[in-house]
Amino acid sequence: MKSEIIAVGSEMLTPFRQDTNSLYLTEKLNEIGVTVRFKTIVGDRLKDLVSAIRNALARTDIVILIGGLGPTEDDLTREAVAEALSLALRRDAAQVAALHVRAATWRMPMAENNLKQADVIDTATILPNPNGSAPGQWLDTTFNGYRKLVMLVPGPPNECRPLFDDECMPRLRAVVPQRFIAIRTLKAAMIPESQADKLLAPIYTTYTDVETTILAKAGDIQLTLLCSKPTLDAAQQRVDELAGRMEEALDDWLYSSEGESLEQIVLYYLGLRQATLAVAESCTGGMVAQRITSVPGSSRSFLGGAVVYSDPLKTSFANVPPDLIAKHGAVSAEVAAAMAEGIRKRTGATLGIGVTGIAGPTGGTDEKPIGRIYLAVSDAQKTDTFERTFRGNRDRVRQWASQQALDLVRRKLM
Ligand code: ATP
Ligand code: MG
Repeated sequence: MKSEIIAVGSEMLTPFRQDTNSLYLTEKLNEIGVTVRFKTIVGDRLKDLVSAIRNALARTDIVILIGGLGPTEDDLTREAVAEALSLALRRDAAQVAALHVRAATWRMPMAENNLKQADVIDTATILPNPNGSAPGQWLDTTFNGYRKLVMLVPGPPNECRPLFDDECMPRLRAVVPQRFIAIRTLKAAMIPESQADKLLAPIYTTYTDVETTILAKAGDIQLTLLCSKPTLDAAQQRVDELAGRMEEALDDWLYSSEGESLEQIVLYYLGLRQATLAVAESCTGGMVAQRITSVPGSSRSFLGGAVVYSDPLKTSFANVPPDLIAKHGAVSAEVAAAMAEGIRKRTGATLGIGVTGIAGPTGGTDEKPIGRIYLAVSDAQKTDTFERTFRGNRDRVRQWASQQALDLVRRKLM
């Protein structure tokens, strides 16, 4: 079944507040096979709310409204839902009594406005809210002749989440046909996004029952395949079948079939080959080492390395001959190779990596533009060097460079 979440509150249309409740609700909905087709954020204006609610009712089966259930003038969700569905609002006596008890407990005067919170939409079930004063509401109703489920839940996250879990989820489970979701994540390194799409689009567009999303970062493409079916086997089978075809198309660009990170895969291969790694980094300033050491257990294969930013340190820490730097420049294939070899020998690692380049925004020349990176991977047999030119700002160039360095190690070990 399709759903729409409507987050109500003008504050979420400012730069200062974000709707986070819907992320939580989406996860819960997905667990029972309900997909979120739309998310809408609406300010606290009755007219806008009514129109957003009508839109949602026209295009989805389940509409969940978050917030705007409090006692203040701008809390208009109840009124808007009633108007959109042409249902009356009635003041619920039991709720009024509960509000009085609550006010007495807190020794607070009872403002007239407060009683708004006792207004219930005709035919709605009241959902108790033990963490706040405004209860939620559940409506199993019709709109233009179609059955619709409409939920009103309070906005404060500590009220919204438990109320949704305790009151909405059991009711949804009873109504929503049982569905199971299978998810697979594939990842590929250093493939241009356009090329990935050219390879993959003809495949995944034929699997209309599997939702494929592509997320691209610097040199990293993540494909998430999601399928929902009445049985888990059926969902898993479709996802696996599509994943298999995509894996084949991606060939050796593919590094992960189960969502692992590139650094995890590099460490996996290092472990498999009983190899160790050390790095000498200039323009990446330790990013390669940082990424590898972010994986628990990396100490088994990663020895360490050096950030050799200045020329003298390239010599003293990575054994790069000064005349090599003088002859070719610190940013050169020759120096990258010497860094990789130097750090490998100094540390006794099986593999050494060298990365040097121009991250920008200044320092580029005609011969060596901004974004030019030289990388080298060295083992006891040989040292391979690579020249790449990456586009983007300083941060992106460095991201790309660290990604490329890790991918070279992966390819070397594969
Ligand atoms: P109250 O009874 O406290 O007024 P309410 O149901 O009227 O509750 P709102 O007034 O809309 O809810 O919001 C209360 C608080 O919860 C605000 O701080 C608001 O920013 C936050 N909030 C509302 N909706 C969301 C959301 N979708 N995600 C995260 N925070 C939210
Ligand atoms: Mg409020």
